[in-house]
Amino acid sequence: MIYFDHNATTPLDERVLEAMMPFLTTFYANPSALYRAGRIARSAIEAAREQVAALVDTTAAQVIFTSGGTESNNLALQVPAIKSRVAISATEHPCMTEPVMRLKHRGCAVETFDVDTRGLIEQASFEQVSRLPLDFASIMLANNETGVIQDVAVYADTLRSHNVIVHSDAVQALGKIPVSFSKLKVHLLSLSAHKIYGPKGCGALIVEKGLNLEPMQLGGGQEKGIRPGTENVAAIVGFGAAAEIAKAELDQRHDHLLKLRHRLESGLKTVSGAVIFGHPDLRLPNTVQFGLYGVDGEMLQMQLDTKGIAISSGSACASGGGKPSPVLTAMKIAPELAKSAIRVSLGKDNTEAEVDEFLNRLTRFLL
Ligand code: PLP
Repeated sequence: MIYFDHNATTPLDERVLEAMMPFLTTFYANPSALYRAGRIARSAIEAAREQVAALVDTTAAQVIFTSGGTESNNLALQVPAIKSRVAISATEHPCMTEPVMRLKHRGCAVETFDVDTRGLIEQASFEQVSRLPLDFASIMLANNETGVIQDVAVYADTLRSHNVIVHSDAVQALGKIPVSFSKLKVHLLSLSAHKIYGPKGCGALIVEKGLNLEPMQLGGGQEKGIRPGTENVAAIVGFGAAAEIAKAELDQRHDHLLKLRHRLESGLKTVSGAVIFGHPDLRLPNTVQFGLYGVDGEMLQMQLDTKGIAISSGSACASGGGKPSPVLTAMKIAPELAKSAIRVSLGKDNTEAEVDEFLNRLTRFLL
């Protein structure tokens, strides 16, 4: 199989599996137990906390382990400071937009930072919204569909000066570009393990020192009581290992991915009717989402699947008869073109030959 859907999930790195195995077999003790076996599990969690903290340039005390990006984004919204008005960017993942819609139904005003046709937040919209009395704002670092990267540090700086609590979803950026919690100047940052060759069902919320969060569940003191429940030790260890490897290989992965992306994009330039979405440069090195005038995106995905190529549209409802992707709609892409969207999200083990094979199959399908 040619796997081109790394923004959906990545394969588990063998080195990560190796690190996890002892905690699925030998070291099964509860990390809260006081005896030796429990202490081994506890210290493995704390080592993983250091590894995750190092990847995002923060300290271990700031890392709260969760079940993934979805939970981290939901948990970020549990700041007691949220009282009457929040703002989010127009291209957030549904695990941010949907809990925010729930706040809206409960009477909280919700504002949007609009984006331009390249997917970047519009300066005028940012200025207008940031002048309002906001309690909380969320701006994702990199978009899962288009890969567009926002200048979060600049926005966070302004919002902070207005006493706004700032969150960023860095799930897609992690492991692909440098992510520094301190340089981004946000209060809260969401991460997920399975997008960086770690296990599914594990993530983290990085929380600025002193910031108060209401737990979503009650019933235990784990993760400082912010996220109670017996820890998923093996997954946390896997996240730590994946983070350490991602940090060591970041530059190498970035260069490899960018080279593949450029090869794919030059190939797409020769495909008639192909339009690449998002900013040409301010984009993740692994992501190319494009539309094809007059093509049924879902049909194309199915055709490529029969040839062993796994790609997606980037959004659950972007293709077929459904509504166009809200991200592409926010970027003012014509609905018919948006509905033809295909997203190629490359990974560290993809090759130039796979990119060429994809282009070859695509061209043949369009003949
Ligand atoms: N945020 C973004 C930008 C994502 O792309 C995803 C997953 O696709 C998530 C959050 C959710 O992460 P998880 O699958 O770990 O819950």
